[in-house]
Amino acid sequence: MLIGVPKEIKNHEYRIGLTPAGARELVQHGHQVIVQNDGGKSIGLTNDLYEKAGARIVDTAEEIFAKAEMIIKVKEPQAVECQMLREGQILYTYLHLAPDPEQTAGLVKSGCTAIAYETVTDRKGGLPLLAPMSEVAGRMSIQAGAHALERAQGGSGVLLGGVPGVKPANVMVIGGGVVGINAARMAMGMNARVTILDRSLDRLKYLDELYGDRITTLYSTADAIEETLRYADLVIGAVLIPGAAAPKLVTRAQLALMKPGSVLVDVAIDQGGCFETSKATTHQNPTYEVDGIIHYCVANMPGGVARTSTFALTNATLPFAVQLANKGAKRALLDDTHLLNGLNVHAGQITYEAVARDLGYTY
Ligand code: NAD
Repeated sequence: MLIGVPKEIKNHEYRIGLTPAGARELVQHGHQVIVQNDGGKSIGLTNDLYEKAGARIVDTAEEIFAKAEMIIKVKEPQAVECQMLREGQILYTYLHLAPDPEQTAGLVKSGCTAIAYETVTDRKGGLPLLAPMSEVAGRMSIQAGAHALERAQGGSGVLLGGVPGVKPANVMVIGGGVVGINAARMAMGMNARVTILDRSLDRLKYLDELYGDRITTLYSTADAIEETLRYADLVIGAVLIPGAAAPKLVTRAQLALMKPGSVLVDVAIDQGGCFETSKATTHQNPTYEVDGIIHYCVANMPGGVARTSTFALTNATLPFAVQLANKGAKRALLDDTHLLNGLNVHAGQITYEAVARDLGYTY
């Protein structure tokens, strides 16, 4: 199969859909890979590295979309990319169609077979192609929060780990899933005191077994949140109710309970945010202050560490890419229900129930 990897064109998107190592694997399976000129240059993945992996560099996205049987990307196709997609072509990328009627119409019109990373499942009921970005965001939330706590950034001037003779900071993590556990690990590694709140007793048991007395686990009630906010220096919002907007777990009035200069990092901002005072920010201007509390609410945190995120993404997406290339879309999808769950659009039809329902298509 001829596989094409265009350069991402969404604003400030520096990730690329396939690493050189990923290209090499596909080539070793007998496939051809074409990569757009300088597609990964800004994160150190040069043309040279792709060529050494057996890929061929082509100048334009037009050439890639015209020739490739499968397009591997990171972000949802932009309007100009939707126009280049063809009938029968496989598109393998993040799509997030439900809130995006324009892109959905573009994909339907193209006739392509669009597989969304975010709806591919695994045997444990997880979302294996979404998890790597949650791992990145969770780990990054602590370094973002630590930076925001610095006095010059408007924070209280507290060092997460303290020093001998000075007590460490208190980090509160609301939601102990993939983001939460990764945030907790980083905070523990920096010697902060960590409290994790979750609604799932099974998850709290798991975290307790894993970390013992190095963390405090609390069942997430309004009471527990209010009590913990009083002494938290850094609060990570990491909840998810699948398919729903994030619940608002900290109100504006509750900010008054917190120490001035404390920091809220709302990782759940891509689902609307779990603090009442959250509004999405960008890497260029990541923080703002409300009632003396610093808020960090970057909606695409993994984009800030595009190199690590690119490697993490290819690690997760590559096995399915190999299946799609080896077997062709039809056989690969029929052989694997988890990959089939990723199919959102095929031959002008919406094939994912929630997207069809939300956007008024027949299913
Ligand atoms: P996850 O499903 O692994 O974990 C979510 C956890 O929240 C679960 O353990 C669940 O029990 C818990 N939860 C639900 N309601 C709760 C409540 N009221 N109180 C406490 N805990 C509660 O999800 P995840 O992969 O960790 O993702 C968390 C959020 O981070 C999602 O909204 C995801 O979209 C977002 N995210 C954002 C970025 C970004 O760049 N901003 C990147 C990756 C993920």
